[in-house]
This record gives sequence, structure tokens and C-alpha cells, in this order.
Amino acid sequence: MRVGIPRALLYYRYGPFWERFLAGLGVEPVVTRRTDKELLQLGLQHVSSEVCLPIKIIAGHIADLKGRVDAVFLPRMVWLEDELYACPKMIGIVDIARMMLGDGTRLIAPSIKRNFLWPHFRAGVEMCGSPLRAARSLARARSLLAGPPVALRLEPGEKRIALIGHFYNIEDDYIGQPIISAFRKQGYRLVTKDELPESVLRGRQGFAKSIRWVFERELYNAFRFLVGSVDGVCVLVSMGCGPDSLIAEFMKEEAGRRGVPFLQLVLDEHTGTAGLVTRIEAFLELSQRRQQLTRAA
Ligand code: SF4
Repeated sequence: MRVGIPRALLYYRYGPFWERFLAGLGVEPVVTRRTDKELLQLGLQHVSSEVCLPIKIIAGHIADLKGRVDAVFLPRMVWLEDELYACPKMIGIVDIARMMLGDGTRLIAPSIKRNFLWPHFRAGVEMCGSPLRAARSLARARSLLAGPPVALRLEPGEKRIALIGHFYNIEDDYIGQPIISAFRKQGYRLVTKDELPESVLRGRQGFAKSIRWVFERELYNAFRFLVGSVDGVCVLVSMGCGPDSLIAEFMKEEAGRRGVPFLQLVLDEHTGTAGLVTRIEAFLELSQRRQQLTRAA
């Protein structure tokens, strides 16, 4: 049995775990290729132009799997611990996938509501027919859930920018790479929330407590943690994403109060690399001038 996994959205957090879990069940995991223009165009044919870029991208990956695999594995993340929810579009992508795949390709979509492993176990039994094998495979794969150990190291004198954006945007080559290389070409080190421990990202101090979207709370907490130790903040906002634009406003206000240069990049399918690079270069020039003025004062 060949089971497809779209390389998008939550894949960038749970991908290695899913691949090992499926392989342990005796099924063949088929992961889609890295996002490219063709996959994005495919996605645009299946979802409304109103949805955010990551949903358009995952739609392309799902469409690419249709007919190539026996089933598509796409867990529906509803909420994690502490009633922290995924956004409605992320929850709803499973229904979009169901419509896109039709009757020809099965959709296996365990629903995650606080308990992460139990729905995976049940999906595993559905795929391999053996509770024992599903439990063993889950036990072997779960070590990959922890991810690599994180340790933020800030070197004195380095030029640093906090890049605040969803992991599924930053790690997707098509969206994140042009932005990352534009900063690096100018000699800047990028700090992302991936370098911060979960205790920081899930913290509930102050405004963070009222943020109920799990991934937005991570972004805001990362911003709060880093804003005092960087030369500027760049926030990636997906066009059509309500949570992103709301949280970005709070970050912008706070960065402004602290005098930290702030750049908000809005991403959609029309965002050209050249335009992004120009904006990043202008932002860095401005922030350098501001630092020189501050030092001279
Ligand atoms: S949080 Fe925003 S960018 Fe992410 S899936 Fe939801 S609407 Fe899209």
C-alpha cells in the first residue's frame, strides 16, 4: 500500500515522525517533492483565491498525490494541550482534501484533539490491520517527535535579525529560501523560533495568554524573547491569514515602542523574489543608518 504525505504545513513539524511511523506499519510512505511553481499553480486550481498561501501550496501537494497513491495521510490538527487551537483553515484543509481526492484515493485523517498519539495509533491499525504492529511502530517513531535539542547562541558583534514566521513558510523552499538568502547575502544571521525551547514558545505571560492559536502564540513569544537582542525584526505574514495579520500588528507596535526596526513581508502567490529582495535590502540599509545615528548620539 502506498500512502502519500504532502510536504507542506504540518509536515515541517511532524514529517520525520510520520514517515517512520508509516514505514513501520509496512506501508510505503510517498512524500511529495519540494514546493515549486508547478505545485503552487496546481493548488491554485483547487482552492479559492481568498485562502492563505500555505493552504494553496498544500492543495497543490494533495492534487499531485491524487491517483499516484492508494491513500493520503493528512492528520487534522484541531487542538493541542491547553486548548491551543490550530487555525480554522488548517483544520478545514482535511475537508478540502476529501473533496479533491474524491472516491478514488482514500483519505486517512486522524483528528488530533489534545491526545496526539492515540489517533495515530487508530490510523495505524486502519492501515496495517494489526494493533500490535501499530503500537510498536508508534513507539519506535515517537522519539522523532522531540526534534533536535535547541540552544540559542548569540555571538557578540554579529549582525542579527529575528525572522518571525510560521515554520511551514520558513522551511518551504519556495517561500522561505529567497528571503533567507537575501538576509544572508548582506551578512546577517537570522534567528528563528526554532532556536528557542518549547517553554519559551508556549509561555502564557501577558498578551500571549490570550492568544488561542497555537502557532501564533509561538510566533509572538519568540518575538518577545528576541526583540531586545536583534538589529531588526522581519515578520512573514501570509496574505489572507487573519491570525498572522492580527499578531503582526501587536509586534509592530511593540517594536516601534522599543525603537527596533521592523519589516512586515506579506506573502502570496504574486510575491516576486526581486520585490522581496529589494524590500529587504532597503530595510537593512535603514536599520544600519539608524544604528549609526544611535551610536553617534
Ligand atoms: S495560520 Fe494563517 S497562514 Fe497558517 S494556515 Fe492558518 S490562515 Fe494559513
